Amino acid sequence: MLELRPNCECCDRNLPPESQEARICTFECTFCADCVDKVLGGVCPNCGGGFVLRPVRPAALLAKYPASTKRVLKAEGCAPVRAA
Ligand SMILES: [Zn+2]
Ligand SMILES: [Zn+2]
Repeated sequence: MLELRPNCECCDRNLPPESQEARICTFECTFCADCVDKVLGGVCPNCGGGFVLRPVRPAALLAKYPASTKRVLKAEGCAPVRAA
């Protein structure tokens, strides 16, 4: 099950469970659409994988399976992965 992390790892913007702006990689590194498009170029800076739109969990199920409240933020900032 997805954690549904509450924020963008890059800019710390709030990404509530119903957000259409949330993007995740296969490890559920979570970023906003702005950072994915403008900063990261569609590549996860943690694992090098791509992103997909995070699916929205229906509200009725959120009550039973609540979203994570643990904020994850990249301390060193989120520069895009650069090819050597
Ligand atoms: Zn962001
Ligand atoms: Zn990742």
